[in-house]
Amino acid sequence: MKKTYIVLFTLLSSLACMAQDLPAAPDSLARPRSPMDTLDTQDKYTRVILFDDNTWAYLDLGHPKIDTASLFDEYWTNTEMHAYHAYPASLIPDEIDLLLADSLNSYCPPIQGKVFSGYKVRRGSSHQGTDVPLNVGDTVRAAFDGIVRYVGTTKQTGGYGNLVVIRHSNGLETYYGHLSKTLCEPNDPVKAGDVIGLGGSTGRSTGPHLHFETRYKGQTFDAERVIDFETGALRDSVLTLKKHYFSIYSHYGQSDNESAAASDRIVHTIRSGDTLSGLAKRYGTTVSAICKLNNISASKTLRIGERIIVR
Ligand SMILES: [Zn+2]
Repeated sequence: MKKTYIVLFTLLSSLACMAQDLPAAPDSLARPRSPMDTLDTQDKYTRVILFDDNTWAYLDLGHPKIDTASLFDEYWTNTEMHAYHAYPASLIPDEIDLLLADSLNSYCPPIQGKVFSGYKVRRGSSHQGTDVPLNVGDTVRAAFDGIVRYVGTTKQTGGYGNLVVIRHSNGLETYYGHLSKTLCEPNDPVKAGDVIGLGGSTGRSTGPHLHFETRYKGQTFDAERVIDFETGALRDSVLTLKKHYFSIYSHYGQSDNESAAASDRIVHTIRSGDTLSGLAKRYGTTVSAICKLNNISASKTLRIGERIIVR
């Protein structure tokens, strides 16, 4: 109880500081007015402060910074988790600078922790996000200002479980999967740091974690290029996004040459009857070269649907 009182007192004192520029009541020349209480308004970023001299004022808590209006009209859907099916990847430039944060555009880590599974081919299929462990019920926060584009349940999203997708002014979309509970609605504006859901293990998940994805025009790339999840820090204030980043074989830590080479890889999806020697012959390579690329032994049993790098 005492703690609550101190917190309330601190809040009201700081509100008093923030409200200094607001018009004051006539008798406040004689006696400074003190804030007594605050009230919510329909706009979650605006509150009303009530003062002890029966006056009141609006308090602007800082609205999300959202510009480039066209981004929020084009390929905008609240009913599909992926919005850019029809966007031709050929329209994406080879290289584009995306502003992540500056004095006006803020950032907050969605969750902090040591990554246990990154952007890669995992058990023969593409894992297009970054998995960070958490406890069920931990708060998950919007990474940047933006507008909630999609909120879905496990029934609608399958493997993602309860999912929130936010679109940001720089063109990125961020995905927050496996939530135990979503705490926002489609078309809600959000600020970096706003709680958008609680961590969980819904969907295709082996334990509580956040599956976090970064996408540009629907194309995924390694979110660790943007965020150092272990420290929570943003890697840089600007991301130079290169087209070869959109390959599942391109990841943070590679040089540009390594990333570009990795994105040129040819991948074969195993069908009934495929053998390593058959693949080597078909793609003009050797069994040992395929084994080295995939870090497998020549005696490995190939599973149908598995993806093998052949060149
Ligand atoms: Zn994941």
